[in-house]
Amino acid sequence: MSTQTCGVGRFAPSPSGDLHIGNIRSGLLAYARARQTGRRFLWRIEDLDRVQPGAAESQLEVFAELGVVPDEPPLVQSERTPAYAEAIRQLASAGLVYECYCSRRDIQQAPSAPHSPPGAYPGTCRSLGAAERAAQRQRLAGLGRLPALRLRAENRQVTITDALLGPVTAVVDDMVLRRGDGVFAYNLTVVVDDGASGIDEVVRGDDLATSAPRQTHLAQQLGLVEPGWMHVPLVLNAAGRRLAKRDGAVTYQQLGWTPAEVFAWVGESLGFGARTGKPPWRSVEDMIENLDFERLDLEPTVFRPTARPSPR
Ligand code: GLU
Repeated sequence: MSTQTCGVGRFAPSPSGDLHIGNIRSGLLAYARARQTGRRFLWRIEDLDRVQPGAAESQLEVFAELGVVPDEPPLVQSERTPAYAEAIRQLASAGLVYECYCSRRDIQQAPSAPHSPPGAYPGTCRSLGAAERAAQRQRLAGLGRLPALRLRAENRQVTITDALLGPVTAVVDDMVLRRGDGVFAYNLTVVVDDGASGIDEVVRGDDLATSAPRQTHLAQQLGLVEPGWMHVPLVLNAAGRRLAKRDGAVTYQQLGWTPAEVFAWVGESLGFGARTGKPPWRSVEDMIENLDFERLDLEPTVFRPTARPSPR
């Protein structure tokens, strides 16, 4: 694949606990891709929700042990609320934001709008009049809640092109920008921060592939450069579901593998192991040198906790 001389990639884990081996593999892929393409590599701490004290530091330490150090100090989302508020102001001045008074239950119980995918916001609060809004605001205030803020996107279909998956199409519904508890929503913060950091290619797990059309649409509305996308295969548990911490010993700390063992496993799991006849990877440098994204095994990997890798 082509090499370029500028551009920025990133890894943006949520500090909700120690990273499991699947998250670590995705982060290493993001780093290897950035290095192979001459991009800078940044780290973002997505700490607006579900924070475990010390987890952000520990995630960075694990990557440092693996030989990965970001090119700048991490961006911390909890320090960025003025930027998110400003983005909402910008969207609001273009008439693209409305207040939503629905509870989760209201949304589940509302009949879904025609042509909208399951789970899409049914549009209940999209076109309320001023009097109705005032009444609803007062009702919520009585419950100690704020209205959520939503983007007027109206279920349009958006397609992005993914470097590994090809075209990915999703219907973009009226996504939440700020939640009813005042917390800025994931899609907004990712787009604002990727834009501010100049991220021009997002590499992350393919469970987020269907969020990319949404995020592209939002970037367009904010006048930001849309990044390219590369969604990498996930690591699954024995039942075929996304690996999670409840699946046993799956974090770097629990596995107790050396960095060389981690890279041997990562290479093997991505299809660059024994069957290629090449020696196992032992370091991040080996990974950067030998990983070929065009030959990446796109099948998800099933992680079996007993499979201890053996680098020579
Ligand atoms: N913070 C998100 C996560 O840990 C990833 C966000 C992103 O890469 O866009 O799942």
